[in-house]
Amino acid sequence: MKQYQMFIAGDFADAAAGELLDTVDPYRGDVWAKIPRAQAVDVDRAVRAAYDAMTKGAWSRYTATQRGKALNAIADLVDRHRDRLAEIETRDNGKLLRETRGQLGAIAECWRYYGGLADKIEGHSIPIEKPDALAFTSREPVGVVAALTAWNSPLWFAAIKCAPAMAAGCAVVVKPSEFASASTLEFAQLVKEAGLPPGVFNVVTGIGQESGAALVEHPNVAKITFTGSDVTGARVYETAARSMKRVSLELGGKSPNIVFADADLDLAAPGVVSGIFGASGQMCTAGSRLLVQRSIMEEFTGRLLDLARNIRLGDPMDPETDVGPIATPPQFQKVMDYLDVAQADGARCILGGKAAEGPGLTGGQFVQPTVFADVKNNMRIAQEEVFGPVLSIIGFGTEEEAVEIANEIDYGLVAGVWTTNIGRAVRMSKALHVGTVWINTYRAYSYMVPFGGMKRSGLGRESGIEAVNEYLETKSVIISIAEAAPGNPFIMR
Ligand code: NAD
Repeated sequence: MKQYQMFIAGDFADAAAGELLDTVDPYRGDVWAKIPRAQAVDVDRAVRAAYDAMTKGAWSRYTATQRGKALNAIADLVDRHRDRLAEIETRDNGKLLRETRGQLGAIAECWRYYGGLADKIEGHSIPIEKPDALAFTSREPVGVVAALTAWNSPLWFAAIKCAPAMAAGCAVVVKPSEFASASTLEFAQLVKEAGLPPGVFNVVTGIGQESGAALVEHPNVAKITFTGSDVTGARVYETAARSMKRVSLELGGKSPNIVFADADLDLAAPGVVSGIFGASGQMCTAGSRLLVQRSIMEEFTGRLLDLARNIRLGDPMDPETDVGPIATPPQFQKVMDYLDVAQADGARCILGGKAAEGPGLTGGQFVQPTVFADVKNNMRIAQEEVFGPVLSIIGFGTEEEAVEIANEIDYGLVAGVWTTNIGRAVRMSKALHVGTVWINTYRAYSYMVPFGGMKRSGLGRESGIEAVNEYLETKSVIISIAEAAPGNPFIMR
């Protein structure tokens, strides 16, 4: 059995206490690897290594160009090891290998993108109103960055957090989810091979309330970038406030996918299916509230069910599989509980509604693709994040009503709009209180496009050029160029 070590100060290391956690393959249901169960003492070692790298180590002397080259070297290695990394991540979290492989291509490009940005981070010269002074700003790395990631896409989260942070000159400590840490530890080996100075990139593993909490509390961490649930995110935010750490949070969602009667239904039906059943619905962006204009309700529901009935559940490594297992036992239980909640609240189950069993469905964590009709927007199944293959259908009459229903929720991550009316598409994109609007598409991600939530879906933006600002502080410098001594010392200059 594979036994992983953490990556601290450029070397692989066990937890000081020597404790280990099991890593389970959600499809086979067996323990396939062990990872260290870190405690505060291990976290402290990693943060100190990062702090030293930034303040006195080689990284602190790297030019922006050298940082860019380092990130490009990582990108090349990710490309070279793409298939192996994809298999490890799929084994760890049960996401389709087809999808993980594709994502790894984007992950390599993401490292390259921020490698290219590293030497384009510039301050300004300011034409200050004082004739005897020169003013300029410089952009400085914020400090040690703690990156806490969720289990559904560990290497993607590591890339969109660490690449801009390292481009900015920060050193990072990553704490992947205890349910899927293997791919991040494999990736650490590539960082070592790329020849980055020790301490720039560190990985500590372990349980959220132990190593995760210790990282959030550590006095030498300046910035926290977190992807996970809104409940944990709020706790992280509260703790970080005590020491005034900078925080960005990528949290959950309950996103509306809105289909108008004028939509191209041949596009919209598979789009809705992909938005809720892709990755078994274990996406922060899951389009779990389907808003359908009432005049096409029957026809659209029919098309949707025809597609959803043919979904092939199975081994995530098999290229024929559409939907794999739920990644963790607690998540599986949560989905099962919501199936009961929905029925108890009066939603009508028109597809699935149970655990899926049968040949090839090993591991005991499959859920039937499930659709509830007659859902009211105030039901729990319409308001709370399930993080599973469970869709709620809500009808609407007018565009205004669609906007009202879509926005009547605490979350605001993404929304899908299906229409052939360009004016309506633009009006909807303005009216929806979400960070991303997808028009006639869904699950369209890019490391070049800012991504993040409004309301309870989070704080700050990842991806794109502006993401680098999350890891920078602006410093202002004013220099006197006056020849004469200052006048009255008691008056502001
Ligand atoms: P989670 O909140 O349980 O855990 C996220 C990370 O935080 C893990 O590394 C975990 O170990 C750590 N953690 C847990 N408790 C902690 C604590 N007290 N202090 C510090 N760290 C702690 O989330 P999860 O179950 O891994 O992931 C599922 C959630 O993530 C869903 O709600 C989903 O919507 C969200 N998510 C959001 C995005 C996004 O970009 N908006 C993307 C994917 C997933």
